[in-house]
Amino acid sequence: MYFVDVILPLPLPKPFTYNINEEEAHFLQVGMRVAVPFGKAKVYTGLVDKVHENKPTYDTKDIAYILDETPIITSTQLAHWQWIADFYMCSLGEVLKAALPAAFLIESETVIEIAEKNIDMALLTDDEWQVYEALQYKTSLKGSEVGKIIPKKKSLKIIKSLVEKGAVRVSEKMFEKYVPKLIKYVRLAPQYQTETGLKEAFALLEKAVKQKQLLMAYFNHFNRDKSPLKSDKLIEDAKVSVGVLKAVVEKGVLEEYYLQKDRVSFAENTTDDKNVLSEAQREAFADIKKEFEDKNTVLLQGVTASGKTEIYIELIDEYLKKGKQVLYLLPEIGITIHLINRLKKRFGKQLSVYHSRYTTNERVEVWNNVLANNEKAQLVVGVRSSVYLPFRELGLVIVDEEHDSSYRQFDPAPRLQARDTAIMLANFFKAKTLLGSATPSLESMHNVKLDKYGFVYLSQRYANYQLPIIEIIDIKDKQHRKRMSGHFSDVLIQEINNTLESGRQVLLFQNRRGYAPVVQCMHCGTVPQCPHCDVSLTFHQGSNQLRCHYCGYTTPMPKTCIACGSVDLKTKGFGTEQISKELAELLPQAVTDRMDQDTTNGKYGYEKILAKFEQQETQILVGTQMITKGLDFSNVGLVGVMNADASIHFPDYRAYERSFQLLLQIAGRAGRSAKQGKVLIQTYNPEHLVIQQVLKNDFKQMYQYQIEERRNFLYPPFVQMIRISLKHPEFNRVNEGADWLAGALRELFSTQNNVVVLGPEFPLISRIRNEYIKEILVKISPSHISMHTVKQQIKRTEISFQSISNYRPIRVSYVVE
Ligand code: ADP
Ligand code: ZN
Ligand code: ZN
Repeated sequence: MYFVDVILPLPLPKPFTYNINEEEAHFLQVGMRVAVPFGKAKVYTGLVDKVHENKPTYDTKDIAYILDETPIITSTQLAHWQWIADFYMCSLGEVLKAALPAAFLIESETVIEIAEKNIDMALLTDDEWQVYEALQYKTSLKGSEVGKIIPKKKSLKIIKSLVEKGAVRVSEKMFEKYVPKLIKYVRLAPQYQTETGLKEAFALLEKAVKQKQLLMAYFNHFNRDKSPLKSDKLIEDAKVSVGVLKAVVEKGVLEEYYLQKDRVSFAENTTDDKNVLSEAQREAFADIKKEFEDKNTVLLQGVTASGKTEIYIELIDEYLKKGKQVLYLLPEIGITIHLINRLKKRFGKQLSVYHSRYTTNERVEVWNNVLANNEKAQLVVGVRSSVYLPFRELGLVIVDEEHDSSYRQFDPAPRLQARDTAIMLANFFKAKTLLGSATPSLESMHNVKLDKYGFVYLSQRYANYQLPIIEIIDIKDKQHRKRMSGHFSDVLIQEINNTLESGRQVLLFQNRRGYAPVVQCMHCGTVPQCPHCDVSLTFHQGSNQLRCHYCGYTTPMPKTCIACGSVDLKTKGFGTEQISKELAELLPQAVTDRMDQDTTNGKYGYEKILAKFEQQETQILVGTQMITKGLDFSNVGLVGVMNADASIHFPDYRAYERSFQLLLQIAGRAGRSAKQGKVLIQTYNPEHLVIQQVLKNDFKQMYQYQIEERRNFLYPPFVQMIRISLKHPEFNRVNEGADWLAGALRELFSTQNNVVVLGPEFPLISRIRNEYIKEILVKISPSHISMHTVKQQIKRTEISFQSISNYRPIRVSYVVE
């Protein structure tokens, strides 16, 4: 008798065991996929964990089918996933579900549709043909429906081969579509493309010297080289302003068009405009390598625009030349768009990008290239999910902006910290990790102090460009003296004007979107709340709606108070939309734009806004934290923070650290060129410690103060903290369950004085999407009892909890920090 343990993509505590025959037992290897029945009439794709001969005590079913000929994951990967499951307290199945691209995990619920290409029918088997035929009449089919057309046992196998033959594809409705990069080019309008046409064109521009100059530059380009000409390149060549090109386009002589750039294949020729490291950069580069001699992880702290990316590039180059794979982690897709071009120039064919805006098929492609260690995937740039890829020869991991909170995954499990998970991944390969930031996390700096990480510091901006001047504006005082227009102080308006006059651009930061986060009746005090969440609704003026930013609920903005009928409704607080509106009134002639979740939803939304800003069409860009990260625009002269207070007063033990990082990061967008930039921070608390530390750019002091606080009040990195959340739609059930669980944990750890159990308490937002939430906090100090043991004890307590029928429906989840 042979058995196979299969990891299912479900939150099960253990792999599930199935029967196999002897032949299958010899064929199957760890990391291959099998289709298996599970639960009532469902089929899932699972992963082989182990083949053995130990009959379990329950009745085992047969597997339905074997889906692979060779493993699609490696044993190192599986070990890493197991570490994730143990450390972050989730099941291996949940890791599997998060790790594999959806196309790898076909199951009863998977929806397939016809691929848009003609295929050779002769290539299809009878079963495949039947499914393909059925799809001619129905636009899509679920895996379970396929199981009715052909024997159910075969269904996943048939779907898989149809996908591989290109006949069908896994429906992507749930995924955001891949957004190609758009670049603006210019060409001569068709009617002027003849000899006489040309003469006419020049005649038309006869009186405008600059415009003629532009047209000359256009022809000069095409005399040299026939490749498409980018708009900004033409402006640069002709040494004229954007306005001149605009005028020529308006006259109809030149026209602008977009070319799509495929980001999946970077096969274009690598150009040779390689940057040479400055002396400071070269020194830092050498220091990093020296630190790597006896440290696996090195923290590179370099002020904003010190050229950390250039150093990464040199390091990547060395590892690629040694035949090693490199993983380059970024906190968010936003930065990716900006960075790809830089990396592409240098590493062209060796570069792959992996993130959620790619379709699942594209992700499968990257996966397979990494697994096969193909040339195309020697350097992988990606966000959180790329820590799951099947590396073979990983030599180096780079974690850029390592302090960034987007490295933390929240829902669904595994709720991992991608930076730490990547360091662990590197350890599995005995590879090196370089963490980079201008404002490192307390955790990483603490590890430097403990001598666990090496440390390299870059104190100068590249080319000795100066760091921006930071000024604090006391808005309480300004209000008192009637020097505010809406949310703009007189100083801020003055500086915006100065900056625009000097031809430079402005970034304005406000970390809230919408018009105002609160609407209140002045008569009875009622504030419209989300019916599903414990939050007030945000007013969006453009759509005249109230919206919940937690569940997406929307309702038209009422004309009168929903409670008393009064028309006296006022908004409180402000978001980016309101800033844009005030700006339009204050500076009607300025070209402004807004970048936040509401404006970047549409197709190319994100890229268009950035491209317009990059090409200096936009003079002032208003945005949320989206504009703080990694943007490298040399013409930004002024950064304005509309209100620094919200983030500082956020009730979280990381609030000070986060605010410091946020403010310095946004400040770092200013003056990234020879001309110094300026940063104006509006606040009600000019004397606040964090504001003062930002003003002095004093990371050291911030670190020392905050690390003391963490030590005194028992927060990470001095303890490991497990935040246990209980969620259920019934208030009483959550309450009782949380009391029971907290009581049980207190009892369990009553003799262990290194474990503290706090709560249960309602979090700041105690209901989201109709579920009440209660939290228990467990703090564990280092001691002879291993962290692993404590986690196992908590997990066992959860099992007792779930065995109480009244509590079983409560969802329990863990965040380990
Ligand atoms: P950081 O990542 O430290 O904020 P970047 O790597 O983005 O800084 O560099 C800031 C700017 O300086 C970029 O526009 C980059 O192209 C330029 N730069 C940095 N180092 C060099 C170099 N060695 N040669 C040419 N340009 C450089
Ligand atoms: Zn009212
Ligand atoms: Zn809601």
